[in-house]
Amino acid sequence: MKAYQITQWGQPLEEREVEIPKPKGTEVLLKVTACGVCHSDIHIWDGFFDLGGGKKVIMEDRGLKLPFTLGHEPLGEVAGLGPGATGVSVGEKRIAYPWIGCGQCDVCKRDQELICMNPITIGTRRNGGYAEYLIVPHPKYLVQYEGVDEAVAATATCSGITAYSALKKVRHLRSDEFLLIVGAGGVGLAGIGMAKAVVKAKIIVAEIDPAKRAAALEAGAEVVLDNSETSAREELISLTNGGPNAAIDFVGAPATVEFAFGVMAKGASLVLVGLYGGAAQLSTSLFPLKVNNILGSFVGTQQDLVELLQLFREGKVKPVPMVRRPLREAPQAIQELREGKALGRYVLIND
Ligand SMILES: [Zn+2]
Ligand SMILES: [Zn+2]
Repeated sequence: MKAYQITQWGQPLEEREVEIPKPKGTEVLLKVTACGVCHSDIHIWDGFFDLGGGKKVIMEDRGLKLPFTLGHEPLGEVAGLGPGATGVSVGEKRIAYPWIGCGQCDVCKRDQELICMNPITIGTRRNGGYAEYLIVPHPKYLVQYEGVDEAVAATATCSGITAYSALKKVRHLRSDEFLLIVGAGGVGLAGIGMAKAVVKAKIIVAEIDPAKRAAALEAGAEVVLDNSETSAREELISLTNGGPNAAIDFVGAPATVEFAFGVMAKGASLVLVGLYGGAAQLSTSLFPLKVNNILGSFVGTQQDLVELLQLFREGKVKPVPMVRRPLREAPQAIQELREGKALGRYVLIND
């Protein structure tokens, strides 16, 4: 089979001919028919995540060996079953929920695989969907997507549930309260598009790019503003009578975190989602004085995925624009994403 692999960190992905893996034990062989290209793939491709202050997470230190196949937004058709894989048949179409834990530790046994210390995520720790086939360790990670467009369903596994799970964390907001969403890029825009289906609050979007602000209004934001303007803070505070009651930062840059934290109302929570990287300066005394919270939100659970697919089926969430590309264009697609050329989510299609 063909696989599009990292053979040197940061260098163009290489098309390689590799053997189709054989499913053992509970494993399932999936013929990949679609796989989203995600912005976080770029960090893995480079071989590190920037933590700010000169600190980095190095992929090699986490045990990632080259050659490696990216792709954590895969779905396809069951093509083979290990002797212990039950409950699914060859030919059935399924999403592979990628955020898999080790299965052995306490949190995994409590079904909290997202906080497992030794995850075996598809496409970030084990070979992913930039290939014609991949192995899913157990049928329990397969999710039905019948009734949802293939490209939309693929990207639901990462950008979709990332936005959805962040919104669920502020679901307590009332209809007369305000939610600030910072950043209307890929995931941010997905979040704005599904906000009304999850949260009752009024949606204000802060975004520095005028085209993205227009897209945010189109996607359902009540108000947009430019957070690079010095007047933005004042404007936001007066608009919300003292600051938004919660904020979700889909960028995660020092400037956006400082902006969001600086405008929040008393008692508000800031949900950090974006992996832009860096280190922010925050006043430690303001946390207690303003009774604020900061929480991190990383992708979402398999249950989040099931719920989100249902919202798509019911037409309650408008998907972001998809750009379908043949699987063989994986190397160009990720390069263009790095260069910021992608308008909409790239999804690799393997016919
Ligand atoms: Zn992703
Ligand atoms: Zn675990």
